[in-house]
Amino acid sequence: MDLLAKRLGSINFSQTLAIGQRAARMRAAGHDIISLGLGEPDFKIAENIRSATAKAALEGHERSGPVEGISELKSAVVRKLNRENGLSYEPEQIVIGAGSKQIIFNAMMATLDPGDEVIIPAPYWVSYPDIVRMAGANPVTVPCTSQLGHKITADMLNSAITAKTKWFILNSPSNPTGAVYRADELHALAEVLRARPGILILSDEIYEKFVYPPAKFASIAGVAPDLRDRILTVNGPSKTYSMIGWRIGYGAGPVELIRGMMRIQSQVTSSTCTIAQIGTAAALLGPQESVAATIADYHERRNLVVELASRIRFFHAIPPDGAFYLFPDCSALIGASTRDGKVFKTDVDVVDYLIDVAGVVTVPGSAFGMGPALRMAYTCPRDRLEVAFDRIATALDGVRH
Ligand code: PLP
Repeated sequence: MDLLAKRLGSINFSQTLAIGQRAARMRAAGHDIISLGLGEPDFKIAENIRSATAKAALEGHERSGPVEGISELKSAVVRKLNRENGLSYEPEQIVIGAGSKQIIFNAMMATLDPGDEVIIPAPYWVSYPDIVRMAGANPVTVPCTSQLGHKITADMLNSAITAKTKWFILNSPSNPTGAVYRADELHALAEVLRARPGILILSDEIYEKFVYPPAKFASIAGVAPDLRDRILTVNGPSKTYSMIGWRIGYGAGPVELIRGMMRIQSQVTSSTCTIAQIGTAAALLGPQESVAATIADYHERRNLVVELASRIRFFHAIPPDGAFYLFPDCSALIGASTRDGKVFKTDVDVVDYLIDVAGVVTVPGSAFGMGPALRMAYTCPRDRLEVAFDRIATALDGVRH
């Protein structure tokens, strides 16, 4: 009997989550593991968010709310988009989901037909291609090398578009490379999309706040307001406020799309945890000073990992402008052998070796559609980052071609 659907043949278990589980198992077994694997910020959730959430639970907000999200959070999102991004939306253009991941899933399920294509610049966040395939369509990945700063150009986008293109997915700042699109680069992409009215644009802005000067964040909906009727702006509190476990995300876009997404959500989760939504409204409406302090700290960590990685002769990394990942190319390791005779054939071999020998968890670039490379999340304290890179250097000492 075939227990599982054929559909699963093309769906992977999220490799980042798999590696996170492996690190947790090794830690539970007593190993001293430093995880540069999962992209979970390590700072504490602000007190006002915790207390608003606890109060909501104690007050008994236990009934399910509206499919599209509670009005308190939707209006907080409207205010946030206005205040921070200069974007004006009506509450009916907003939908709340269980993480921005679910928002992206709902959007794809609501719009894609078999044979449709979705353009995804690579390296990409692991889930985009799988979500597109789950919705029965085809991901079209466009390799964006380090020479291009890992960013798609207008010409590359233009060449990737076909009559079947339904979406273009943009993720700035990017997971896994930290690339940040400048406003002029977004203008150029918008120019291409302007000439192709049938294409929807998903702008995943979850790392919006993690941008290191002189880089500046720009949102395509702000840069190209005339395209707003086909842009879905996606964001959430997981990274900015360290609220990953709250599982809240939101989308802002044209009403027809939002209603389509609600139809999917109504049959999948009904609605999103009310208590977590109340906590998120507190995050968006409350004081923002702690966010700025966090970003300053991550900026220092970013400078530190760039410096530490530059000492490892097998790594070649461009300094990321945003997010909290370093994405060093490790092709210099491929074909090389370790002191005990192990030969690295792929970046997965490198990741396995660093876990086993150095106790340091990273994720293979190939999981993000571009290898051989490593994705290293600098979401742990600076002293642990230093230990991690020391251990990597020791593990790779003596590696030869
Ligand atoms: N988009 C990107 C680029 C991400 O890196 C992540 C999580 O790592 C998400 C979306 C999903 O975040 P969440 O579902 O917690 O909002």
